[in-house]
Amino acid sequence: MNPLSRRNAIKTIVLTTGALATSGAFAQPAATPPEVFKLPALGFDYDALEPHIDAETMKIHHDKHHAAYVAKLNAAIAKEPSLASKTVEDLVAHLDAAPEGIRNDIRNHGGGHFNHTLFWQLLKKGAGGPQGDLLKAIEKDFGSFAKWQEQFSDSAMKVFGSGWTWLVLRSGKLAIENTPNQDSPLSTAGQPLLGIDVWEHAYYLKYQNRRVEYVKAFQDVIHWEFVGARFKELQG
Ligand code: MN
Repeated sequence: MNPLSRRNAIKTIVLTTGALATSGAFAQPAATPPEVFKLPALGFDYDALEPHIDAETMKIHHDKHHAAYVAKLNAAIAKEPSLASKTVEDLVAHLDAAPEGIRNDIRNHGGGHFNHTLFWQLLKKGAGGPQGDLLKAIEKDFGSFAKWQEQFSDSAMKVFGSGWTWLVLRSGKLAIENTPNQDSPLSTAGQPLLGIDVWEHAYYLKYQNRRVEYVKAFQDVIHWEFVGARFKELQG
């Protein structure tokens, strides 16, 4: 055996041993699914929303929970490569078009990916309140910004179990809606402008069972400039 092939033989043994070591309950799939969807960067430091939302929660929420939705969405798409060219918005907005075998995965993990991608973007500390056309629309559809705040928080308190509360643009009007699990308003032809994640993973480390305090704190970290721009864009 010449030195080169000996080295290759050793390499093969090492790789085989490595593969054996990962078999069992936590085995990875033999072929890792292609990374069609990617975890977007948070866009700010984990502690940027302190004290309203703590750094540890942000880190776990983004790096672990959102990452898991992306990984599971990719695993589902690997079973239907024809869907790999679609955007997550397309997939979630047209659940009926998805093959039955992966429809629920797209609903849960595609919804999770889309909802969280939007969530990170609409968070900013000290970003004031709505302005311009968005403020006018809120006043028209809810009476006043204060009434919108009250109604939005009330709605977030009524989510039973895990889910979201949304400000949605639907048929040209603003509405507050709740969805269970990772269901997105996109799937029922609504356009979410902003949403609060009321899964316990979004607040439990800091607030434990006091969802009311988290819901109140959320009002201080809404990036209204982003939401206003999104409103303008969606109205086309
Ligand atoms: Mn979440």
